[in-house]
Amino acid sequence: MEKAIPYGRQNITPEDIEAVITTLQSDYLTQGPMIAAFEEAFAHYIGSRYAVAVANGTAALHLCALALEVTPGQKVITTPITFAASANCVRYCGGEVVFADIDPETYLIDYDSVKKLLEASPQGTYQGIIPVDFAGRAVDLEKFKALAAQYNLWIIEDSCHSPGGYFIDSEGNQQNCGNGAFAELAIFSFHPVKHIASGEGGMITTNDKKLYDRLLQLRTHGITKNDTLYTNSIEFAGGDTYYPGWYMEMQTLGFNYRLTDFQAALGLSQLKRADDGLGRRRAIAAQYEQAFKGLPFIKGQSGVVEGHAYHLYVIEVEDRLGLYNYLRTQNIFAQIHYIPCHLMPYYRQFGWKEGDKPFAEQYYKHCISLPMYPTLTDEELQFVIDTVIRYYS
Ligand SMILES: *Cc1c(COP(=O)(O)O)cnc(C)c1O
Repeated sequence: MEKAIPYGRQNITPEDIEAVITTLQSDYLTQGPMIAAFEEAFAHYIGSRYAVAVANGTAALHLCALALEVTPGQKVITTPITFAASANCVRYCGGEVVFADIDPETYLIDYDSVKKLLEASPQGTYQGIIPVDFAGRAVDLEKFKALAAQYNLWIIEDSCHSPGGYFIDSEGNQQNCGNGAFAELAIFSFHPVKHIASGEGGMITTNDKKLYDRLLQLRTHGITKNDTLYTNSIEFAGGDTYYPGWYMEMQTLGFNYRLTDFQAALGLSQLKRADDGLGRRRAIAAQYEQAFKGLPFIKGQSGVVEGHAYHLYVIEVEDRLGLYNYLRTQNIFAQIHYIPCHLMPYYRQFGWKEGDKPFAEQYYKHCISLPMYPTLTDEELQFVIDTVIRYYS
């Protein structure tokens, strides 16, 4: 193929461009009507009560950790097979990251590994869990919620890979990733390789009104303009019988993590096509699955799974380096997700070392993410499949 095939890429349509131009020509560049429209549509899509648009997925994680009051000395559990931001948000607040291992079949945070950590320490040692719907496969949060309740923990679901993904709960109901049924908060990213692109961008979803109000404040410097929340007097504020129009209060130490209105317009426009994109991702996964079935040098992520949102199509292979390099010579740019987080030099300084998380480390030796994005053509997909198989024959 002449054209390079990346592992993931955005799809910008004329409608998307139109939506951004319209917003650029409006009165608002930041925090205008498109923010609320995007938040409302996103909450509806996911099935959560509230959504808060923020500058990026990492900012979303940071605000979640702040809203749940992660503080120095407290421990939070996450998976090593994720983007570093899932763990880093704990460190931003001075908390300690404790890595569980993964399930070697699903590549998701392993329930028993988390349970073992909790059982090994006195109640109160851990504050929360950050499960990640890695590659787009939904974590069974119903199970984790029960464990969290037992140990009085909160859950932040990192759903960056899984908008539109779901799992089926014990009563047979579909539970959408990020719907807040089993987690206090969930976060999404709108980085260009993710399902919905807004350039940079992120979203927090929740069903908890208190957390929602706190997040709104934290997103904008800790400032509120809601006069029912004011603590200074009307007299101090400079009013007579009411708070004057200019008045506002900074009540907590927040940040500027706002999304711009034109990014929200792009996100909203993209959201309208989310189901089409998801359908195409699932079709691509089914074709990979079919083509690789029974081949001894490839191990899939447990076959085609219901509710999988296929942000990534991950396989485990023999001679991963050889395949990776060969694909590059054929203009196919596969990627590795992820280098185990606990073995990043930053986390090694806290004592994490090789051998600590054997399943995650074993997975890293063999994993490779093949091209997966809605505009990948059938011809390109076939070329990727043929090229992978050719390498091994
Ligand atoms: C992309 C991603 C993030 C961070 O999102 P940004 O918008 O890039 O800050 C966090 N967690 C996971 C699992 C991601 O894939």
